[in-house]
Amino acid sequence: MTNKLTPFQFNNHIAHGAFVEITGGVAEMLDRRTYSPEVRALIGQAMAAMPLLSLHLRFEGRINLQFQGEKAIKLLVAQATQAGDAPLQIRGMAKLAKATPLAGGSFADLLSDGILALMLEPASDTQPTRQAMVPIDGNSLSEALEGYFAQSEQLPTLIRLAASRDKLCGFLLQRLPLEHTKATEEYWEHLSILASTLLPDELLAVEPETLLRRLFADEDYAIFEPRPVALSCRCSREGISLLLISLGREEVEQIVADQGRVAVTCEFCGHEYVYSRSDAATLFVAEGSEQSVLKH
Ligand SMILES: [Zn+2]
Repeated sequence: MTNKLTPFQFNNHIAHGAFVEITGGVAEMLDRRTYSPEVRALIGQAMAAMPLLSLHLRFEGRINLQFQGEKAIKLLVAQATQAGDAPLQIRGMAKLAKATPLAGGSFADLLSDGILALMLEPASDTQPTRQAMVPIDGNSLSEALEGYFAQSEQLPTLIRLAASRDKLCGFLLQRLPLEHTKATEEYWEHLSILASTLLPDELLAVEPETLLRRLFADEDYAIFEPRPVALSCRCSREGISLLLISLGREEVEQIVADQGRVAVTCEFCGHEYVYSRSDAATLFVAEGSEQSVLKH
């Protein structure tokens, strides 16, 4: 399995955590979009964070992580969808300010002074959608997420994320909500000091089992069966057709009149869906309109 989440837990139930490794699908998700290396790395890190977040929030539906910024990055989105026994599906994208399509720089240059929002969108209508927002704080995407857990969930959490051109990795260590005594606090402190030595480059280069042995050599923990993760976009021609129908016949006819066709590019994976004049007309025929008025 090349894309997987490997959970682990300390046997005294004071903390749990996971490693995520994603190698398959990175190019397919990101190569069709034009991002600077720095922005691409941030999207990669956000996507690597999603399986780690799902460790804490296991449910059927979608987890939607958004960074809404005021600087070069206006919006950075990563989503994870869980449906039955299928691998957790991850996708991500960023929208840049118009003036800075290829912006680089530090995390603060790209995405500070903004809002981090985490939305839980259950597949079932019977459960409510939940949303939490905190200010984006810290010098990295992982620090911003740690801030989210501290503020919104009151769960001390240590997160490391790393993204190279073709590999995304992450690590999470989280305090479990066990009774807080002096002994449990001291043990958590001890674990977080050990874990804080982990470097992003190590995450990219070394297997999770080896890293666990290195970090927690003298600790008593169990590793669980890895869970499959897939980097894949959920876009489809059917979904784009529905979007065009919702835009309305008049609007779509105008686009065809102006451009001779309709081309819609998925904001996540960059896949382009093209509708010829007659494809566009068919959309509305199927909707109950008897005939096309696309005569231009
Ligand atoms: Zn797509």
